[in-house]
This record gives sequence, structure tokens and C-alpha cells, in this order.
Amino acid sequence: MTASRFANLLRPELADLAAYVPHTGDFEIRLDGNEAPPLLSPDARAAVAQALAAGALERYPDPRATELREAITSHVGGTSDEVLVGTGSDEVIALLLTALSQPRAGAEAATIVTPSPTFVMYRLSAAARGIRVHEVPLDDRWDLDVAQMRAAITSTNPNIVFLASPNNPTGTRMSEDRIRAVIEAAPEALVVLDEAYVAFAPASVAHLRHAYPNVALLGTVSKIGFAALRVGWFVGPAELVREIDKVRQPYNLPTPSQRAATLVLCELRAEIERVVAHVVAERERLGRELARLGFGVPPSDANFLWVETKRPAKDVFEGLAANKILVRSFHARGGRLANHLRITIGTREENDRLLEVLTRWA
Ligand SMILES: *Cc1c(COP(=O)(O)O)cnc(C)c1O
Repeated sequence: MTASRFANLLRPELADLAAYVPHTGDFEIRLDGNEAPPLLSPDARAAVAQALAAGALERYPDPRATELREAITSHVGGTSDEVLVGTGSDEVIALLLTALSQPRAGAEAATIVTPSPTFVMYRLSAAARGIRVHEVPLDDRWDLDVAQMRAAITSTNPNIVFLASPNNPTGTRMSEDRIRAVIEAAPEALVVLDEAYVAFAPASVAHLRHAYPNVALLGTVSKIGFAALRVGWFVGPAELVREIDKVRQPYNLPTPSQRAATLVLCELRAEIERVVAHVVAERERLGRELARLGFGVPPSDANFLWVETKRPAKDVFEGLAANKILVRSFHARGGRLANHLRITIGTREENDRLLEVLTRWA
């Protein structure tokens, strides 16, 4: 609905967008947001609480996030002038799209290319800025379709190509040779490799940043247990970081988030590895059990499963919701996504409850 008084002031693209509304309601088990299960040890929680409470309340945060950017380089490599931080990768994606939105010669608008399905923020954030989005379906194993990606890149000459690996919502990793082929097809674009779920995967493609000058990485603490902090990052060429930094609000990241995320990346590695090991073991168990019940479950390298239902996904989703379990359903997306649910891995008890209810819905 357009507020008519302001209709001719608003970007026309907004008419087709809807505000992101997370599911509300009385759920006992929330497996819809790809968050980590609450398994942090009391000691680690106390250390994070202390970091959150420290720092002068009356002072603005460090506008350069110096310590946090150092911590990120110790985590993913690179130097701190190659790192830009944001309130979640969501903000970083928005900053990239704002800075890199110059239309190509002769074109009316800038373009991005993404596989489909993938993380929705690339599309939403681009659309809100009048940037065109060209989506290329993943192949039948939810891997990159190189020929179609190449064709899309040739025809649209995109500013940015976004590739999430492991991908959301499919959980699959893109084959490295296909990622390379896409990068090589797009020498004039920035290729962003989003590794939000890399902690749950057996391998990273971060090294591709050193093999190609037009490749950058995205990372986040959201999926490894610290979604509340809203800390994400971009690692890319320093010359590009310098330009994107001009778009960033100087105090974008609050002091508590900077301090706690620094602690997490520098001192809680063993804790995170323990939580990740739990999630990976439960992912394998849940995947096996769901397959045994008759659901289609492709291998996942993330902290969720991409589950194909035989009955309409909407029915299964509602059956779970009636039992106070929330998952993410793609029935409204139609096509080959229509019979899919995305289920975040929970604690062992939560996963057992899920299985118990799903037994009735297979
Ligand atoms: C969840 C997710 C993010 C994380 O975003 P934050 O804003 O850092 O919480 C980024 N990329 C993908 C593919 C995701 O699924």
C-alpha cells in the first residue's frame, strides 16, 4: 500500500517491496532464523557480558572499529585496511550496493547477478536502490549453472555478482571450479563470496580472494552464536574498502558490539568450535532421520537443512506451527521451491521434538 500523500516522493521500487516482518507468535521452538542453539558455556557468557558492559557510555564508539577489524584479520586473514565492518552483513551488502551503483555506459541502472534461490537481502537491498537484479536458477543439485551465469553476466554486465557458499536456503556449497568459472566470466564486476555459513562447512573459498583481483568476502558472527551483536564484515581490495567507507555512517557499530565481537573472535574460538561441532553432528543425525521419514534432504554444509516435503509444504509448516515449532516455509515462492522447508538445526531436544511431530507429516 502506498501512502498517497507521499506517492510522488517515494522511490517507485518501494511499491513492490514489503517490509521484512519476522514471524511473531507463540512458538516454543524457533528453527526459522539460522541462529545457533543456546549452548554457550556460563564462563563464555560471563566474558561476553563483561565485554558488553565495558566502555564509556557517553562516548561515541570507535568510528574505525580498530580492534574489531584487527580481530577479523586474525580470523580470516588479510590486513585491517582490507576490512570494513557493519551492523551485520546486511548493512555491508547495503553499503556495497550504494557505493557500486554506477550504471554501465548506456544503461539506465546498475545490475547485480545472483543465483536463485539465494539470500534475499541481495535482491531486496538492490531493489530498494533502483538496482536491477538478474537471477539465474541453480541447477538441479542446487549448484551453480555456469553456462547460464556466464550468459547472464555477458548480457547484463553486472556491477556485482553475489555468490553465497554454503548457500541460503539450500545449504549447498557451490563447487569451487564453478565459482572460479563465474569469477573468470566477470572480470569487470566485483564478485562477492558470502561465507556466512563457512564455520559449518568442510572448506572455505576465501583463498580465491588472492587468486583474483575482483573477489571479496563477506562474513558474520550471526550464525555462530552471536546474532544479537549485529556484526558482519567485508574483506576486499583496500582501494575498494576506502571508497565504500565513505558511504558508511561513522558510528555504525555500537561499542558493546565492537567489544563483544572482538572478544568472540579472539578468545572464544574453542567455544564456537564446540557449538559448531554440536550443530554439525545434529545436522547429520536430523538429515538421516528426515530422509528415513521420506523427506528429500540434500547434503547441507550449513546450520540448517533444505527439506523437500511430499505433502504441500504449507501443510507441514502449519502442522509444526500448531505444535509451537516454527520453521521457514517456501511454499509461497512457488515453482520448484514450493515443496521446501528450511529448518535450522536446534538443540538435541528441539530436534527430537521436531522429528516427533514430523513423523505425522512425512
Ligand atoms: C544470515 C546470512 C547473512 C547474515 O547476515 P547478518 O546481517 O550478518 O546477520 C549473510 N549472508 C547470508 C547468505 C545469510 O544467510
